[in-house]
Amino acid sequence: MTRSTAVAVSFGDLARLGPIVAVVAHPDDESFGLGAVLAALAAAGAQIQVLCFTHGEASTLGASTLGACAELGLVRRDELLAAADALGVSRVRLADYPDGGLGDVSPDLLDAEIEADLGDAALLVVFEPGGVTGHADHRAATAAGKRVAARHGLPVLEWGVAPDIASKLNAELGTSFAPLDGVDVVVDRSAQLAAIGCHVSQARDNPVLARRLQLQGTSERIRLTEPGERA
Ligand SMILES: [Zn+2]
Repeated sequence: MTRSTAVAVSFGDLARLGPIVAVVAHPDDESFGLGAVLAALAAAGAQIQVLCFTHGEASTLGASTLGACAELGLVRRDELLAAADALGVSRVRLADYPDGGLGDVSPDLLDAEIEADLGDAALLVVFEPGGVTGHADHRAATAAGKRVAARHGLPVLEWGVAPDIASKLNAELGTSFAPLDGVDVVVDRSAQLAAIGCHVSQARDNPVLARRLQLQGTSERIRLTEPGERA
């Protein structure tokens, strides 16, 4: 498996398709994961909405200092709103499904949440189907996004980690990053870094995030799947 250097995707072309809906599981996924891609699309003129399925109340990061889970959920909601501003995202909707339990929620319910926000969206943005880190919530969010996109004949931009970077992270840090075959695109990380800084409860002392960003440099791995394509 070789690392692709081809740039088959232009953020300008994607932005011109029309409005974009990004579907994620947790507050911070839009920044730690999709941040550079969403910021590039926003800078190219795209109108972007983020639909986040949970308040992220089950995170172990930040929980010890903030006490109750519900309180952490509220803190993370505010962090998400600030981060969205930094990325240039125009609208955020935060649903209230259980953090850590998204995989047990009826797919019909998740699909209906996306349908409610779809409007005249021309593109969905999600984590790659393995959830990037294998997290069941991530996989459920992506599966819902892909089902709805298929139903409406919309393309999907999947974000992930290139195979060489996934291997390095897994070897160094014992993580379970799934490799994504796709293309590398060059990104400016300044807006993403500002957005990451808004997630105060999650971004401090996050060695996996720091190392991943270091390995990625100015490159992001994405895959664009066209309507009807099974991947
Ligand atoms: Zn997440």
